[in-house]
Amino acid sequence: MTNKLLDLAAPGIRGLRSYQPGKPIAELEREYGVTDIVKLASNENPLGPAPRALAAIAAATGDLARYPDANGFDLKQALAARHGVAAGCITIGNGSNELLVLLAESFLGPGLEAVYSRHAFAVYALAVQATGAVHRVADALPQEHAQPYGHDLDAMAALVGPDTRLVFVANPNNPTGTWLDADALERFIGQLPEHVIVVVDEAYFDYVREPAYPDASRWVEHNPNLVVTRTFSKAYGLAALRMGYAVSGPEVADILNRIRQPFNTSSLAQAAALAALEDTAHLARSVELNAVESRRVAKACTGLGLGVVPSVGNFLLVDMRTEAEPIFEALLREAVIVRPVANYGLPKHLRISVGTPAENDRLLAALHKVIAA
Ligand SMILES: *Cc1c(COP(=O)(O)O)cnc(C)c1O
Repeated sequence: MTNKLLDLAAPGIRGLRSYQPGKPIAELEREYGVTDIVKLASNENPLGPAPRALAAIAAATGDLARYPDANGFDLKQALAARHGVAAGCITIGNGSNELLVLLAESFLGPGLEAVYSRHAFAVYALAVQATGAVHRVADALPQEHAQPYGHDLDAMAALVGPDTRLVFVANPNNPTGTWLDADALERFIGQLPEHVIVVVDEAYFDYVREPAYPDASRWVEHNPNLVVTRTFSKAYGLAALRMGYAVSGPEVADILNRIRQPFNTSSLAQAAALAALEDTAHLARSVELNAVESRRVAKACTGLGLGVVPSVGNFLLVDMRTEAEPIFEALLREAVIVRPVANYGLPKHLRISVGTPAENDRLLAALHKVIAA
């Protein structure tokens, strides 16, 4: 649509394109008339929320007329204990997405710069652009690397300059599933100048089973410029409730708390997140299912002649060896929703979330049919 009012928008807003989410189930039903849909497009937990979280939500509905606790006291206490920091080091947000946006709004503006990697999570580009700041996008590691399309920390460091204020690191990254080990990441963070805030996005932290994979929140105590973001949307199965948080030094937390809306997270989300943290059995089940099924789906995809990027998350980046969009469309007609990633500069790949065994069977049968055709 031609928007006559676009010239009135702030400069950073004019060039923005809206985020492309995974296709909702109801939309596919409406548009294609298919039913019994399998959605493997947004890296959600196929087992759903923890039973304890559901019970906490039900219990919290009695207070819906009241504003939530603006400071999220109970949840912050629990998160602070978990990360070994003071409660003043935790900022909770309407999904970790909100925290990424608040960080950009806090530290960027025209004339300032942000660094991130090619093929990095799409929200970084959107958050930076909205502020009118300059993007510095580092080339990713090559396809032949052990971490294909992953972050090249040397290339990222080379783009840091006097006007850089933010560096985004996704560990692991979405959509590539690639990751950085403790030594490499700590060295990278340690060499950044004092005028740079570094954000380590650990949205998939709980899924990762690599011994050398770091919990970057352990470094916050000694690095006031480090911010680590986590979410309840992925392994905790609470994507609909929108709850994420940042662990940082108290100074960054103070800045984020000045800019955030007073009631940016709902009472239901706070209650559910608190209960979800305590339901370690559900988390363990979810992580175990993902480990078993991601291996099985990857192997089956390789068997179909496709290329699979090794992933430590709950999704696989699959090289279709040809333009992926027609395969995405054909899978929709089989009532299977996956995620095209041409907007990430990967037109031959699809990102496929790992589902339940039954969902994955449906995916693999549909893939087999579509590729054979
Ligand atoms: C899903 C995701 C997020 C954001 O999730 P929220 O639902 O906003 O908490 C952040 N970073 C990455 C890399 C993700 O994949």
